[in-house]
Amino acid sequence: MKTVPRDADPATKARAAFERNARSVIACHRCPDLREYIAQVAHEKRRAYRDQTYWGKPVPALGDPMARLLIVGLAPGAHGSNRTGRMFTGDASGRWLFRALHRAGFANQPTWERPDDGLQLTDCMITAALRCAPPGNKPKPHQLATCSVHLAADFALVEPRLRVVVSLGAIGHRAAVKMLESRDWRFAKRPIFGHAAEHVATREGRTLYVICTYHPSQQNTSTKVLTEPMFDAVWTRARELVDATL
Ligand code: SF4
Repeated sequence: MKTVPRDADPATKARAAFERNARSVIACHRCPDLREYIAQVAHEKRRAYRDQTYWGKPVPALGDPMARLLIVGLAPGAHGSNRTGRMFTGDASGRWLFRALHRAGFANQPTWERPDDGLQLTDCMITAALRCAPPGNKPKPHQLATCSVHLAADFALVEPRLRVVVSLGAIGHRAAVKMLESRDWRFAKRPIFGHAAEHVATREGRTLYVICTYHPSQQNTSTKVLTEPMFDAVWTRARELVDATL
């Protein structure tokens, strides 16, 4: 492991911290039942991916360690990022998310294909409340509580520059709010989840915006509970708020 010199520039220090966080997530065995489950999924595979090697481990954050926008999702999909090893890639939800991030200028391309496809996020980092895909995509409260150690590490990394948090779905939102409150951010009013709801948190003269969106799960997108214009409006607003700090 390389040691970062004390006088290294902020970007180098942030990259080193990002990589430390990633190593800690990947090596985590705090929930043996979940580790067993994701390894089993990786072994059995879905028929469509039977020729692929699944990641089958906890999934670290993805993106820019110097981000001012942090996206907090739910958990890896069993055949999505539990297969690819990259947060929010490998399934239909990711297709929606990266298209929208590209349109809002946070991603250099609208699609992901492979780990070497050149996908890059700028000023944006994606993390999740849980890092191991849970059975039925339903995290249990004690699993979320245990995994919050990794969410805390990601918040700590981006917090000095953070301006906007976008929470994807109610569980991601609750995890983000809990994390911010535990770090002494105070909300002017109760930060209730609702699509496009915007909440303001303050701490020591700083202001942070939390924007909620319905999760771009197939269940929401195929039923038009969430449409692309609704989703785009959230990222356009996030872009405005991030740029307003320039
Ligand atoms: S869910 Fe989180 S805390 Fe539990 S094993 Fe996976 S990475 Fe570790």
